[in-house]
Amino acid sequence: MSHQGPNKTSAEKLAIQKYHRLQRARGVGEMMKHGAAIEAAEVLKRWHVMGMTYYQMADQIGLSEATLCNVVTLQRGKVKGEVVGICRKTYNAIMSIKWEEPIGFGARVPACGMRRRLQALQVAGFTLAFISEPMGRHSTQVSFMARNDAKYTYYSMHKAVVGVFDKLISVDPLDVGQTPRQVAVAKAAAKRNGYAPWTAWDDDTIDSPDAYPEWTGACGTQTGVNIHRKMGTSERLCRPCSDFRKQKRADYK
Ligand SMILES: [Zn+2]
Repeated sequence: MSHQGPNKTSAEKLAIQKYHRLQRARGVGEMMKHGAAIEAAEVLKRWHVMGMTYYQMADQIGLSEATLCNVVTLQRGKVKGEVVGICRKTYNAIMSIKWEEPIGFGARVPACGMRRRLQALQVAGFTLAFISEPMGRHSTQVSFMARNDAKYTYYSMHKAVVGVFDKLISVDPLDVGQTPRQVAVAKAAAKRNGYAPWTAWDDDTIDSPDAYPEWTGACGTQTGVNIHRKMGTSERLCRPCSDFRKQKRADYK
């Protein structure tokens, strides 16, 4: 017997109504508005940027990885960027995701925080060979990570750097086995490359891809430029100060 067409018996109609009622009670098929889809996408992106993979999140709430990826890209069906809603059941599941330590490498996270910590450790006088040892990585790899400008790294790598950084940044390299010569070499390399010290960052900025190191406490102003000059570091090293000077020169013309 078909459920389609005009010739349903009343028993069939009742059965269908009951089916839909049960589905609605489970949240299936009930679509929420675009705003809810955006809200769910933001939750997924937040956990992802902290290192959980979509696979791990999907596994936790019993949905498929593809479903979560579709929510993130606000994509349903074939039209990308189409304004979409979200099924209440999917929404509820996504909002219930709890933080779990990422498995294996974890997700790809912004690499800037890792790089800034490695560079700040060099400014403090730690050589990359010294830093890489407790991380269990080869110094060539760590040196590459400190210098390149990759946008992303894996959560596991980020975490290894944060762990070493938190332990070392408050101690004197000479107290933990670095020789005066090694400290001088690390500091000279850091200066040559224009690396920012730990004090130029705070907890809100060090992992933010859009943030710049605050070298002077007044970067982006004439005072900032003056302080750079007094410190003997080129103001060209700091983007806001260099932009300020360019703007000032342009105003004179
Ligand atoms: Zn500056």
